[in-house]
Order: sequence, then C-alpha cells, then structure tokens
Amino acid sequence: MKRKTQLIHGGISNDPATGAVTFPIYQVSTFKQEGVGGHKGFEYSRTGNPTRHALEELIKELEGGKAGFAFGSGMAAMTAVMMLFNSGDHVILTDDVYGGSFRVMTKVLNRLGIDSTFVDTSKAENILTAIKSNTKAIHLETPTNPLLKITDIETVAKLAKEHNLLTIVDNTFSTPYWQNPIELGADIVVHSATKYLGGHSDVVAGLAVVNSEKLADDLHFVQNSTGGILGPQDSYLLIRGIRTLGVRLEEMEANTKAIVEFLQGHSNVKKVYYPGIETHPNHQIAKKQTRGFGGMVSFDVGSAENADKLLSKVKYFTLAESLGAVESLISVPARMTHASIPAERRAELGITDGLVRISVGLEDVEDLIEDLENALN
Ligand SMILES: *Cc1c(COP(=O)(O)O)cnc(C)c1O
Repeated sequence: MKRKTQLIHGGISNDPATGAVTFPIYQVSTFKQEGVGGHKGFEYSRTGNPTRHALEELIKELEGGKAGFAFGSGMAAMTAVMMLFNSGDHVILTDDVYGGSFRVMTKVLNRLGIDSTFVDTSKAENILTAIKSNTKAIHLETPTNPLLKITDIETVAKLAKEHNLLTIVDNTFSTPYWQNPIELGADIVVHSATKYLGGHSDVVAGLAVVNSEKLADDLHFVQNSTGGILGPQDSYLLIRGIRTLGVRLEEMEANTKAIVEFLQGHSNVKKVYYPGIETHPNHQIAKKQTRGFGGMVSFDVGSAENADKLLSKVKYFTLAESLGAVESLISVPARMTHASIPAERRAELGITDGLVRISVGLEDVEDLIEDLENALN
C-alpha cells in the first residue's frame, strides 16, 4: 500500500459490525461481559475503546511499529513514555525541544527523580559527552521548533543501541507522511497529534508508537494505570484528519517553498530558517531522512518591535500558538510557545525577540505572500 492509500485504508478503516465506511464513535465507557472476563476485546474504555483502538491501529501502521497509543494531548503521550523510566534514570534531549517538553522534564519529572540533560543533538558528539551511567534514553525532536534544526535519526539510533539506550523521536513536525523514525532505528515515536495529524485546529491529542512487544506491554500498562487516554470523539476526529494528511502536506509544502523564496528575497528579513534551503546547516540530513521539508518556517525581523508591527498588519496569518492546520498561523516563539524557557537559555539557543514563526496553511499562496509583503514593507 502506498502512503496516501494507507492514510485512508490503513488501520481499521471501517466497521466490520455494520459495514459503516467510516469507523463509528463508540461513545461508551463499559462493555457487557458474557461471564467474568468473557468480553469481546473491550471491557472498560480507559483500558481500551474501539474508536481509540481504530486510531491506535492506524498510527501503528503509519509509523511501522508494533503498537500505537492515543492520549489526551501530546504532553500526555510524552509523559506516559517518560513513565517507562524510574527514579534515578537519566534522559538526554534535544536542546531546543518544544517548550512544554522542556517544562515537564525540568519542573515535573525531575521531582520524581527522572533527570535530564539538553544538548544540540544535531551533533552526535554532544550526545556521547552527555551519556552517564544512569542514562536510559535519547529523546530527539527533529526538525526542531522554532529553529528547524535537524538531527540524523539513523546515526543517533545506532549510537543509542551501542550504549543500550532507547531512542525516542518527537515526529510532530514531519509526521509519518514525511519521516519514519522507526525505519531509521528509533524505538518510540511520539506525536502532538494536535498539529498536522488532526490538521484542523479542532482537537488536542497525543500519540505514541513503539517498536517492540515489550515496550507495547509496558506503555499499555502506563496508559491504563495513569489514564491519560484520548476520548472516542477526539479519536474519530483524528482518524478523519489523518485521511487527508497526504494532500494537505503536499499542498502546504508547495506553498511553503514559494513563501521561503519570497522571504529570502526581502530586505526586512534578516535570516530565514527552513531545512529545505540548501545553505541550511542540516539540509543534507533533512534530504536523506525525510521526503518533505514541511510547512514550518522561522525568520528574524531584527527586534520585538518589528515583530509586533508585522503581527499587527497580517490578515491571513492568525496570531496563535500551535501549528499544522489548514489556516496559516503566526507566532513569536520567545513570548509564546517558548516563554516557559528561561530568557538566558533562549538567548543561548538563538530564539531572539525578533524571531517570527509561521505555520503555512492551505490558503492560496498568492494571498499569503501578498499578506507577508504588505506587513513586512
Ligand atoms: C505542540 C507540541 C507538543 C505538545 O503537544 P500538545 O498536544 O500541545 O500537548 C509536543 N511536541 C511538539 C513538537 C509540539 O509542537
């Protein structure tokens, strides 16, 4: 099955009980048992729900793993994955990870004894230096947010195996349509499905896929024990969103290419960050491990003041956190998505006050470029 077909026919794409061509919403908490333990695969919806199961089977297939899990948000998915570890364990993470990922590691999980170190994982030697005797995993985000740095997943996964560590990849930005971390050697993939997979700014959800039966058992145990599951309505919305992922991403990619070219030629733009640009420091790795460069672009307009002026002028780019939906969004990471990262750390990372991030949507690209042009001028 090719990729666009798999988005539509993968997983459990219709209901064997009724023949319904879209999988129904099983809005139900508990299931009748014929005798104690005599159920048809479902007993209680925290443990398993048919609609959630259909989604979990779909993401499992799309990522090429052994089992999929759906959670109430991307952060719930990541937290559940981190619950595979114990007090006293240590995890290495990409330095410019999503702000919420940084926060949960340094303000919540640290209190439970899970220690973390943040390094620029785009350079493998930084990972080697950070490995300690209690290190259990490397958590990569690639491309990163908002600077769109790329880590070579295959290289890191190999290095991780040599040191007996798990490789976890946050695949939110690329989605399985562009990038398949498990094929490249990763053990666990996590998603904020709120973004491209949902794709319509109408659902908050998280997904995780693991590549071994052992990890599947362990993560299901955590999911069922801690209970941060995705409900059936939102599971349905995600399945619906995923069906059009291919066409959405292809179109967004084309729009993004045109916008990047425009931004590079504009005198009020100091710098453009996009892995599809040939001079991007990780362009070759991006080309090797992904089929598309994505719809996220960051650019520097020099100051917070300039950024504010730009924001006040754009019509089609909605000022909002989040990304990956049909409508184009614009944000200032330093004061929005990355505000939970301390100022001096942001400076170290290069997340300046004049850095603007856009998530390119599905509007006509001529309108989007005209909008940016007016605002930049
Ligand atoms: C949004 C996001 C998250 C968090 O997901 P939520 O669904 O908002 O909880 C994690 N990682 C990345 C890369 C994200 O963009």
